[in-house]
Amino acid sequence: MTIPDVQGLGRVLAPSVPAPQSVPAPPSVAAPLSVPAPPAATATPPGAFSPEAARQDVPVLHRTVNGHPLVWLDNAATTQKPRQVIEALAGYYGTANSNIHRGAHTMAREATDLYEAGRAAVASFLGAEGPETIAFVRGTTEAINLVAQSWGRANLGPGDDILVPVLEHHSDIVPWQLIAKETRARVVPVPLDGTGQIDRAAYADLLSYRTRLVAISHASNVLGTVPPVKEMAALAHRYDAKVLVDGAQAVAHLPVDVQDLGADFYAFSGHKLFAPTGIGALYARPEVMAAMKPWQGGGNMIESVSFDRTTFAPPPHLLEAGTGHISGVVGLLAALDWLTSFDRDAVVSYENALMAYAEQAMAGVPGLSLIGAAAERIAVLTFTLAGHEPAAVADWLDRDGIAVRSGHHCAQPALAHYGLESAARASLSLYNTSEEVDRLVASLRALQRTS
Ligand code: PLP
Repeated sequence: MTIPDVQGLGRVLAPSVPAPQSVPAPPSVAAPLSVPAPPAATATPPGAFSPEAARQDVPVLHRTVNGHPLVWLDNAATTQKPRQVIEALAGYYGTANSNIHRGAHTMAREATDLYEAGRAAVASFLGAEGPETIAFVRGTTEAINLVAQSWGRANLGPGDDILVPVLEHHSDIVPWQLIAKETRARVVPVPLDGTGQIDRAAYADLLSYRTRLVAISHASNVLGTVPPVKEMAALAHRYDAKVLVDGAQAVAHLPVDVQDLGADFYAFSGHKLFAPTGIGALYARPEVMAAMKPWQGGGNMIESVSFDRTTFAPPPHLLEAGTGHISGVVGLLAALDWLTSFDRDAVVSYENALMAYAEQAMAGVPGLSLIGAAAERIAVLTFTLAGHEPAAVADWLDRDGIAVRSGHHCAQPALAHYGLESAARASLSLYNTSEEVDRLVASLRALQRTS
């Protein structure tokens, strides 16, 4: 990605503040291999993508936890931050902090330029028509609530349907339930097939001229499923329905092109793609964005205010009441720059090979069952281990320095599809390695030996 040439930006992204101290190289870990040789190392042509180079950029990956080198396999919850992002934040606060969009001084102008450069970078990252299609929000949850409150309140009414696949995260279910209750619309679940993929026939049957919106994940956080979003959007558009795509899990794994997907809305959180927490973005197709209504009132979103008549700024500023997360945008800009410095196709190949390796290795652990077997998936491995509660599995792994998540993963209907209330989840990212998978598998095997 090319960072727009904005005054002050270069200084912020290459700050004069000292770089964080370099961290010691991780101790080498004996690989207790009892599974086939890792495909990961050989699947990617040499030089196309190096997970080791990515790891070198991410300081926290070099710490220890409970006396062991950290194995961070909780990437679906949040990703770790490269030093480029950490330095951009320090550089911004050390040299360029100012509020934006107001004040006629140099630093206000520079901060505004940075903020708008972030908007342009997000637009380019998503393949959007232009920066005016992007509103900054706190994250995916806020983006979806924004659409529900702004677009939903203006466009939903009694008898309208909102189609929501069963694999959705709670943040792509509950906002629709809230607005449906208010507008007397209906939230209609779209069932899954046995693999955890959308039941295409059922989806086609559920679509009708009552359908106003289809809200669908670009990738599931619990099953890893990548639904056929493009095909589903094309079908929905035949009925004049809008399509919201929850990109929270997809953005760090798959190249995104909102125009090609046919998304009317696309939401994501920065922290899932190596940027800080508290910043995310909502894309809306230009005509859809232009018609958005205010959802929160305050500064920055108005043109003029009087007690007789208030007029509003055009979108996307209309949707950004109050002071935004300016440093978050700076961090997001640095994260996008870092991620797009890699060959994205090579990253996809690497992650697919690593996932295949992990699946094969984990399947050999006695009593382990993987959940979700769709043909198209991102590297999310949700599992149960016979004889052990998921929380106990996560706790055991933590003692070995391995971070996985257990619980309902904010996707209770997806787990219920498999008759489960809880599961453990290892979620991989581009900086994970087959050696780390080996450590996970060795620790799980050791747990099984204790029972
Ligand atoms: N959608 C999906 C698919 C997710 O995985 C998550 C978080 O895990 C969210 C939405 C909510 O993201 P956030 O909490 O960053 O708003």
